[in-house]
Amino acid sequence: MATRLTGRKFIVRYTVWCLDVLGHGPDECSSAYNCPCVGTDDDGEEIHDPDEFNHGECDVGFEVNDRNRCGEIEVEVDEEEYNAGTPQAFTGHSPDDDDIVQSLINAGLLKPNVTSKDVEIDGDSDEHLAVDDASDGRPLFQLEYESSVLIP
Ligand SMILES: [Zn+2]
Ligand SMILES: [Zn+2]
Repeated sequence: MATRLTGRKFIVRYTVWCLDVLGHGPDECSSAYNCPCVGTDDDGEEIHDPDEFNHGECDVGFEVNDRNRCGEIEVEVDEEEYNAGTPQAFTGHSPDDDDIVQSLINAGLLKPNVTSKDVEIDGDSDEHLAVDDASDGRPLFQLEYESSVLIP
């Protein structure tokens, strides 16, 4: 099915929530976190070995403990028509990951060298989006949809 740009653009605005995250990624397992998947080898060196110390299970994981409103971003989005030229044609607009990342950089919330490959963005762009670190899944931000305005 054909998708085409309609030529219309929207400004989509999100509230940004910064997160207080509990937990740790696989690179961070250590006795300091009381990880059951960490033990010591024959030399007394601490090693991370879920198979040997915890029946193959690593205790990694993240949990959002608290969040606070830490900004607002605006993303310019092209409207698209889906199933163009058919009776099922409909229009919609949802931001590209690249543009969301750039807006977070512009707002000073992400470092300038971050790209959309470094993050994982999931959710409904007209409700909530979760922005996670692509390398270990650590939650970075929650984006809450506020409004979408057609650029005249
Ligand atoms: Zn751990
Ligand atoms: Zn582990």
